[in-house]
Amino acid sequence: MTIGTTPRMIRFLLEINPLLTTMLHAPLLPVYRRADTTMVRGEGCYLYDDNGRDYLDFASGIAVNVLGHSHPKLVTALKEQSEKLWHCSNLFHTDALNRFATELVDACFADTVFFCSSGTEAVESAIKMIRRYHFSKGQPERFRIITVEGAFHGRSTGALAACAHAASKEGFTPLMDGFDHVAFHDIDALKNAITPHTAAIMLETIQGEGGIRMHSAEYLQAVRQLADQHGILLVLDEIQCGYGRTGTLFAFESSGITPDIVTTAKGIGGGFPLAAVLATSDAASGMTRGTHGSTYGSNPLAMAVGHAVLTELLAPGFLGRVIQIGDTLHASLTALCADYPGHFTGVRGTGLMLGLALKQPERKYELADNLRAHGLLVAPAVTDALRILPPLIIEEAHVAEANRRMREALENGH
Ligand SMILES: *Cc1c(COP(=O)(O)O)cnc(C)c1O
Repeated sequence: MTIGTTPRMIRFLLEINPLLTTMLHAPLLPVYRRADTTMVRGEGCYLYDDNGRDYLDFASGIAVNVLGHSHPKLVTALKEQSEKLWHCSNLFHTDALNRFATELVDACFADTVFFCSSGTEAVESAIKMIRRYHFSKGQPERFRIITVEGAFHGRSTGALAACAHAASKEGFTPLMDGFDHVAFHDIDALKNAITPHTAAIMLETIQGEGGIRMHSAEYLQAVRQLADQHGILLVLDEIQCGYGRTGTLFAFESSGITPDIVTTAKGIGGGFPLAAVLATSDAASGMTRGTHGSTYGSNPLAMAVGHAVLTELLAPGFLGRVIQIGDTLHASLTALCADYPGHFTGVRGTGLMLGLALKQPERKYELADNLRAHGLLVAPAVTDALRILPPLIIEEAHVAEANRRMREALENGH
C-alpha cells in the first residue's frame, strides 16, 4: 500500500465501521437495546471506547461498579486469588469463603448467608427460603408473597412472577403461582392483601427499575409491624439500592427496621458476578442440608473480590462521604432541573441512588443517547426517569464534569 492510499483506506474503514459493528453484534440474541459503542477499557469513573473517547460513567453498569473501574485493590485481590484457587465446589470450605461470609454477616443484621452469582438467583433463593420457613413450621399453606407495583425482582419465571409489571410477562405465562401485587407505598392496600396464605412481603427499599422511588421510613416501619402481627417474613430486595449506595451498607438501615431476609447483588462484587441472600437464623431455619445449592455460588474468585469491595466500603469515612457527595450531586441535578424544566420535573432518591424524573418519559432513550454522545452515561429506568448511579468513589470534580456534559448535551442535542 502506498502512502497516498492510506487516508482513503482509513476513510473506507471508518465508513464500514458501523457495518462491522452491526455484523459483530449479529450473533447476539437481540433482547437488549445495545448502543452502537464498543467499550474497551475502564479506569476509575471513566469508560473508554474503541475510538479512545472517554465517558463519565454515571450508570456504573447499573449500580454495579461501586468502586469504579479497575480499582487497584480489586485488581490485586482478583490476581492474587487467581493464582491460588479458582473453583473447588461447595463440598469444601475455602479461606476466601469463610473470611468473606464472616465479614458480611458481621457487618449487618444477618446470622447467615447464601452466595450465588446473580440478583435473580438471590431472589429465587429468597422465595425458596420463604416457602421452606412456613413449611418447616407446619404451615405449608402459607406460600403467597405480596410484592409492590413498580417493583423489579429479576427475570426468571419465579422472579418475573414477583414483578407487577405486566408487559414484561407477555408471552411467558403461566409463570410461577403465589404472588399478590399491591399499590406502591399504600399501607392499607398491603393490609387488605394479607390472607391466611400470605408467607412474606417482598419489596425494594428503594425501587430502581421502577424509577428511583423511595419507600418512606414510616411506611417501612408500618410494614414491619404488619409482618410481625401476622407472622409474615419481611424480605427487602436491596440488589440495586444496597451496598453503600445510600450511604449505609444497606438502604433499610436508615429506616430503623430490621428485615428477615435481604437479597443483594450488583454492587457486592464491584463488577465480578456475585450475589447473596442474607437472613436471620429464624428466617433461614427451613433451609436444611440438600434443600438448595449453586455450583458457582461461593466461588473463591468472587469471595476474594467481595472481601476487597466490603473492606473499602467499611473503611472509616467511606460511607459518610457517599452521603456528602450525594448531597452535592443532588444539588447539582436540582439546579439542572430548574434550568431545563422542559426536560426534567425533579430529582428523586438519596445518596448516590438518584433519578431525574422526566417531563416526557417516552424520550428517555433519546435523552440518554444524547448524553452518551456528549460523554456521560446514565441508566434509563423502565418507567419515567433517568437513573444517576455513579461509582461511590466520585469526587466534586466528577459532579461538575457531569453537570457540564449534561448542559452541553441539552444545549446541542435534539
Ligand atoms: C438488577 C435487579 C435484580 C436482578 O438482578 P440480576 O443480577 O440482573 O439477575 C433483582 N432485583 C433488583 C432490585 C434489581 O435491581
